[in-house]
Amino acid sequence: MQNDEKIFVTKASMPDYEEYIEMIKPLWDSHIITNMGKYHQKLELALRQYLCVPELSLMVNGHMALEMAIQAFDFPKGSEVITTPFTFISTTHAIIRNGLKPVFCDINPVNFTIDVDKIEELITEKTVAIVPVHVYGNVCDVEKIQEIAYKYSLKVIYDACHAFGETINGNGIGNFGDASVFSFHATKVFNTIEGGAVTFKNHEIYEKLFNLKNFGIHGEELIQDVGANAKLNEFCAIMGLCNLKKVDENISLRKCKFEIYDSFLRESYHIETPMMNELNIRHNYGYYYCIFKNNEERNTIYETLREHEIYPRKYFYPIASDAACFKQKYKDIDVNVARNISLRILVLPLYPELADEKIEQICKIILKTVKA
Ligand SMILES: *Cc1c(COP(=O)(O)O)cnc(C)c1O
Repeated sequence: MQNDEKIFVTKASMPDYEEYIEMIKPLWDSHIITNMGKYHQKLELALRQYLCVPELSLMVNGHMALEMAIQAFDFPKGSEVITTPFTFISTTHAIIRNGLKPVFCDINPVNFTIDVDKIEELITEKTVAIVPVHVYGNVCDVEKIQEIAYKYSLKVIYDACHAFGETINGNGIGNFGDASVFSFHATKVFNTIEGGAVTFKNHEIYEKLFNLKNFGIHGEELIQDVGANAKLNEFCAIMGLCNLKKVDENISLRKCKFEIYDSFLRESYHIETPMMNELNIRHNYGYYYCIFKNNEERNTIYETLREHEIYPRKYFYPIASDAACFKQKYKDIDVNVARNISLRILVLPLYPELADEKIEQICKIILKTVKA
């Protein structure tokens, strides 16, 4: 079992084998294994409660949740959407695949979310929405974004894929903007193997998303929208119900691991570490990242850790606007903060089972390299 020794950036949480097997047994009686079955409904309810949101629609994955959430607002084709380039490429693709144009706004250098002071200058008569990202679970300036959205009548759809379970002043993170999107991919703080959800306030959007994720079919004979197939199946829903029971414990364990990293690295004058000083936020400790002095140092540490079978990730490098598929279309835009951080950042392994000694080993390798 060679893989046992390799330390990846994350490790999928799984319930006890027996627990899961027991939970899926009834599926062999009902033979209802997808199409918004009993467990789909149960998980929607459980997640609505856990995330403290009034409305939630489960999806097959986070990406389709983003696509469906954007489609639900029926923006005219060719409209512009202001978003961040410092994200997983899914955010950008979801905008483009809806026939909309991403307009990249730079990030702030403090928590790497969209720079709210640079949004207004990008607004044109074609702008219809803002799609910010709570990157690494760092929350966006939701108040300022709402203010801008009201002023210009824009919709706000948050990519909250990194922010599962977070709260601002006790308010679930999925309550901000017009909709928020979560991913329940295996690599995330909470997983349904693959899965995702959209949260929102307005029940009409629930109906709309229900259609969109099922080919646009409304009732048996009416095909109301050009939908997709983005339904979460019952096996995944059950995985979610099992994993949800342990998510708080996992977040506490992540916090301990996060603090061990911090105890070694925070004081280093050569490294920038996450700023966790907002007292009103419940964080999910999904990611621990370091910003190094320059690209060369980041790459050296990346390679050195890999030599020790430790696999950190260069999240997010390249930034979305520099992805090869865009063929340098955005090479001249001003997203210099994002580009700069992207060259210097490394996301380190972090998951509940990660051994404390491993964290110590990782930190020592890093500290040795930055001081060398
Ligand atoms: C994971 C992720 C997605 C996509 O979610 P999937 O469930 O993998 O489809 C989108 N945006 C961000 C920021 C993510 O981290």
